[in-house]
Amino acid sequence: MTLLREPISNNMSKEITVHTSSLFDSKQKRFFSDLSILIDVNTGLITRVYKRDGPVNDASQPNTIDLRGLTVLPGLVDAHTHIFLHSYSEVSALNQMRDESFVERVVRATNHARAALMAGYTTYRDLGTEGLRDADVSFRDTINRGIIPGPRMFVATECIASSGGYEIRVENGLPGVGQTTPRISDPADGVDGVRAAVRRRLGAGADIIKFYADYRKRALRYPKPSWVGEKDIAFPPSDDVIAGQRNPNIIQFTQEEMNAMVIEAKRSGAPICAHAQSPDAVVMAAKAGVTSIEHGYMPSEEPLKAMKENNTIFVPTLAVYQVSLGDDSDAMKAILKHIKAAFDRGIKFAAGGDTGAFAHGENVFELELMAKAGIPVLDVLQAATLHGWEACGGDLCGRRFGLLDKGFAADIIAIDGNPTEDFSALRRVKFVMKDGVVYKEEYRGLS
Ligand SMILES: [Zn+2]
Repeated sequence: MTLLREPISNNMSKEITVHTSSLFDSKQKRFFSDLSILIDVNTGLITRVYKRDGPVNDASQPNTIDLRGLTVLPGLVDAHTHIFLHSYSEVSALNQMRDESFVERVVRATNHARAALMAGYTTYRDLGTEGLRDADVSFRDTINRGIIPGPRMFVATECIASSGGYEIRVENGLPGVGQTTPRISDPADGVDGVRAAVRRRLGAGADIIKFYADYRKRALRYPKPSWVGEKDIAFPPSDDVIAGQRNPNIIQFTQEEMNAMVIEAKRSGAPICAHAQSPDAVVMAAKAGVTSIEHGYMPSEEPLKAMKENNTIFVPTLAVYQVSLGDDSDAMKAILKHIKAAFDRGIKFAAGGDTGAFAHGENVFELELMAKAGIPVLDVLQAATLHGWEACGGDLCGRRFGLLDKGFAADIIAIDGNPTEDFSALRRVKFVMKDGVVYKEEYRGLS
């Protein structure tokens, strides 16, 4: 186990020059050769990107970083994370939310933040604390204050759900007798009620609003065995994730309620996203005008049409489905096909794996699955950079990132290899800079 890594301090110079031989332009979706980047250390911003017209003579200077020989990309944006969750293959979500201590979860999160940053992820769009109320606000601030290393975070605090919509389900919940469980959403109903909830979330410190347009909320109607020795019920309906009725996705809000949340978030200058899995929920949330749809896995034409028409960003979270469904399941194959159909329709993607359900630091898994679905590599890279910024709210973020251009944050990573030829290059991150500060530098002077 390595100790907490302090940023590798930059020298006294106020400017850093980064030389590159292959740089990804996330706007034009192409690589450029022989560009150099000038960075103002005081602002953490790129001041200039220019084509070198001669040989590099300053490579050994202390204010120069030579990334020639590597592939340089904007720092990656994971558009759907849960910093307080760790891999479900270690501990189920239920046990993490119900049984792990507040302290353990926060301490684990510090490890998650460092692992993500070292894997090239300079931004996290963190969509819900899953039982830790508004703790993500203070966690975000410890990173922003330089107390721990980690991605720049945009947090949702608690997600908004309707009554009984998103809760920890236990069979022994009798008040004063049974288990007590932490709440995992901010419940709200009615147009006035949901508007108030948006106001509460923003007041609590949220950067982004998330609501549950639908959820598989009827887990206790046909309960599945969840402890050793618990008997299953007789003749339960199918639990198939697409066609099954054992615990189907149920719409949580009326169209008017969704509209009201979107209007209130936008009036307050905040992006808003919706958890929506079933086609109807995606259509309603897209029509309401959400910034992004999370999940949307169920194959259907209507939601694709609605997302395209409303210019909705799609964050398909393939990784979390892959983790639970496995490689060769028919459901996973159908999901990948649906995602490719969305791409072919021209829907804008951002990349977010529901990271936390699998290990932080393995975030690139989502990009691998997008590529496997048939999305071209350059589009996957754009989804993981510039479109990630847009999913965070674009200029509502108060900072530009996800593109290596003048005025954008100096979030720069370098990988060993060319991802268009060898996608696994994205798992060989050799250099990480966030806001002009170097956090990882595993090589020097390649040329
Ligand atoms: Zn999630």
